[in-house]
Amino acid sequence: MNQQIKTLFKSVTVIFLLFSLAACSPTGDDTPNVVAPPTASTATSDFPYAFDKVATNTWVMHGPIGLPSPKNKGFMNNPGIVKTSAGLVVIDPGSTVHVGNNVLAEIKKVSQLPVVTVFNTHIHGDHWLANQAIKQAYPEAKIYGHTEMLAEIENGEGENWVTLMETMTEGASKGTIVVGPDNAVNNNNVIKVGDTQFKIHHTGTAHTKTDIMIEVAENSVVFLGDNVLALRIGRMVDGTFQGNISAIKTILESNTKTYVPGHGLTGGPAMVENYLNYLTLIYEAAQQAFEDDLDSSDVISITKQTTTAYKDWSGYADELGPHGAQAYSEVEAAEF
Ligand SMILES: [Zn+2]
Repeated sequence: MNQQIKTLFKSVTVIFLLFSLAACSPTGDDTPNVVAPPTASTATSDFPYAFDKVATNTWVMHGPIGLPSPKNKGFMNNPGIVKTSAGLVVIDPGSTVHVGNNVLAEIKKVSQLPVVTVFNTHIHGDHWLANQAIKQAYPEAKIYGHTEMLAEIENGEGENWVTLMETMTEGASKGTIVVGPDNAVNNNNVIKVGDTQFKIHHTGTAHTKTDIMIEVAENSVVFLGDNVLALRIGRMVDGTFQGNISAIKTILESNTKTYVPGHGLTGGPAMVENYLNYLTLIYEAAQQAFEDDLDSSDVISITKQTTTAYKDWSGYADELGPHGAQAYSEVEAAEF
């Protein structure tokens, strides 16, 4: 490839990933009922985020709302900690090596135990590029991700995310390299860490092809990844409505008390059902439009009526049209 084509190719890749990132990132500042109040006052001013206790032996750092920027230095997700008799388990440590180091400093305020295990919920780099910081501090820590996530990283998706993060933070993420999961997991695997069991749920393509939801039954908590977002309408470019709906219905059967979304505040089953309801309304509108011989662009005329309860959710105005069109394609495909 000559240089011009190379540059163009790189730009197209970054633009595509930008759309993917918008799929999993909240930009609103609404606050659903949270399990525990924020404890940001204990954090440093340079990184004003701290872990909130959300369940027995379980903490979540609720990341800021917004896309990666020079200001937030890429931090935007919800890192989690579960304390076990063998040490700490971290879920989605964050978006860059620097964020990971800040998250580690806050982890030490919760417990001095070492990090022994990490779970990555899916391929989107804002959730896992901070693996690098964990491995630097705890080289023995095992990192788990879905089989498909390991395959996508093998195909270069990790490097694409490093480039995107560096572009969006205007260099604040510089120094971050790809440290992917070193252990593959799949649906129904149970990983035992000390006295605590972590059950993996994967129901096929949902938010992406790579999602795992991690259930810690004895603490009655599930880490949902971006299969569920709180008060945020996400894009669906890497996933499907049917798959995401199915994943949420499956996890609700666990009758868990506390659910941790990929972005937005932790809540109970009602928070999960609310996101499920939105996805269902979109899909049903697409089915209705298809049956009435309307076009995919007509779905929005239905969803504008049926989804008014979500009109204040972040991303609603931007996503309602694309969501209707994508759901219509899924309905069409299901018919043939
Ligand atoms: Zn995502």
